[in-house]
Amino acid sequence: MNSTMQSSEAVRRQYLEAMGITQWERRALAVEPIAETTVPNPTVPTPTVMPSSAQTSPDWATLDEAVRICTKCALHKTRTQTVFGVGNHRAQWMFIGEAPGADEDAQGEPFVGRAGQLLNAMFAALGLKREEVFIANVLKCRPPNNRDPQADEVEHCEPYLIRQIELIQPKLIVALGRHAAHSLLKTDLALARLRGQPLRYQNIPLVVTYHPAYLLRTPSDKRKAWEDLRRARSIIAETGTP
Ligand code: URA
Repeated sequence: MNSTMQSSEAVRRQYLEAMGITQWERRALAVEPIAETTVPNPTVPTPTVMPSSAQTSPDWATLDEAVRICTKCALHKTRTQTVFGVGNHRAQWMFIGEAPGADEDAQGEPFVGRAGQLLNAMFAALGLKREEVFIANVLKCRPPNNRDPQADEVEHCEPYLIRQIELIQPKLIVALGRHAAHSLLKTDLALARLRGQPLRYQNIPLVVTYHPAYLLRTPSDKRKAWEDLRRARSIIAETGTP
């Protein structure tokens, strides 16, 4: 190992330590084949509102503006601002959380609070930069007092997430926590039953793992989350793209 490789390995180890994981990651993990079963395709209405600001493409600008002015559910009354999502529009990895919290509502960006710091450590442990991936939530507005998303809120907000996935066409989706998993997979199976399973959203491989906020409360499960992320990395590697 040359000195550059040694130092990047040292950085990765630092991040694994930040996740609460050290020696364990060397263990080899089997990767299950991806089943051909797919999740039914929900109807995807394309937002029709025209953009007021120039963005990277008309599609993204249209979507961004539709989210920004959305009043389809009551959350618009209590939000400071919408939290659209952030990252690379051509990302191979898409991470999907639940809903903005107080920090995200204040800053307009997903996963910028404590859970976001842990998510950043997870990216770094995978050798990913935050700018390389795309991060979004099921809900684009903060539920008051960080309560769970309600069914009508998910229903109204879902078309925005579906359109984001359509535009990005990621190689892999990581569902962070049960709300993201349930919304994408249209199931109410427990997270424990979904972790480690070969799943797809449309034709895109989907890995379910713990939400970083849960991992902050239950650090003993960080190793299992790392196992999920390693499996996700293997799936990406199997697609054969750099
Ligand atoms: N939790 C989430 O699910 N999303 C965020 O953006 C922040 C915290």
